[in-house]
Amino acid sequence: MSAEIISGKDLAQELRLNMKQEVEELRKEGITPQLTVVLVGDNPASKSYVKGKEKAAKEVGISSSVIELPATIPEEELLQLIHKLNQDKEVNGILVQLPLPDHISEQKVIETINPDKDVDGFHPVNIGRMMIGEDTFLPCTPYGILTMLKSRNIQLEGKHAVVIGRSNIVGKPVGQLLLNENATVTYCHSRTKDLRNFTTKADILIVAIGKPNVLTAEDIKDGAVVIDVGINRLESGKLTGDVDFESAVSRASYITPVPKGVGPMTIAMLLKNTIKAAKGLENR
Ligand code: NDP
Repeated sequence: MSAEIISGKDLAQELRLNMKQEVEELRKEGITPQLTVVLVGDNPASKSYVKGKEKAAKEVGISSSVIELPATIPEEELLQLIHKLNQDKEVNGILVQLPLPDHISEQKVIETINPDKDVDGFHPVNIGRMMIGEDTFLPCTPYGILTMLKSRNIQLEGKHAVVIGRSNIVGKPVGQLLLNENATVTYCHSRTKDLRNFTTKADILIVAIGKPNVLTAEDIKDGAVVIDVGINRLESGKLTGDVDFESAVSRASYITPVPKGVGPMTIAMLLKNTIKAAKGLENR
């Protein structure tokens, strides 16, 4: 058996085409969605992520601007800027690219963003809304994963989903979204004893660890759906996921590749959230 590969690249492209039309319609009503990205310091990975977001926004007709700040900026100054953006009627979505320098509290920054402009879906208000199943801005990576599963009509109800990783931006929220879809969810993490005992029982396996090739075919149940969130750069410069793709592909029914898997979906969902923000609260 060889798994069907779910291409996040292709699906994201399809979504961008649909969003482009949606943005054109909004323009006719005098609304142009606006995304403001704040980039602190000159971390090369962050810079490249921001570039990708700008490019994708442009492609669908979302107006975007990037505010670049030095790594030495005092926390208070950054918070003041966010307050200003919160009040700016032209700005629909605010994204502060993480990670931030050590002297700035990421949590403080996230909590300063107006929840109605929080297109990353990280604000505790939006996380709370997601927990209770209210319509809200969903965190982009988990939202992208759910969209990938739904694109193939993969049944979630009653299925056993195992999530490896419990970060606030990927593991925890993706498990919650699967629970909202009536899956039975198990979380695993670095202290989990006998990881294989859990992974081999998963109908749907979400892997968000951040270490290359932690899982191989032996860790996967026959016919499982495998979503590999990890992005790891090997010494050779090659990008790879957390799952050994070559072996897993023969065991799974569906699998996502790295690169061109979950990554492009994350950006597509950011654009979706920005459009949602532009449409305003009454359409939430
Ligand atoms: P974190 O480092 O915040 O979390 C990693 C999680 O993996 C932790 O919960 C940790 O457990 C767990 N873990 C670590 N080692 C093991 C192990 N050997 N066995 C089981 N669990 C383990 O990472 P993120 O959630 O932010 O990201 C995870 C990966 O996803 C990274 O590679 C990141 O680059 C990628 N990513 C990809 C995105 C995309 O768009 N495709 C977006 C965001 C992230 P513990 O809590 O006990 O420490």
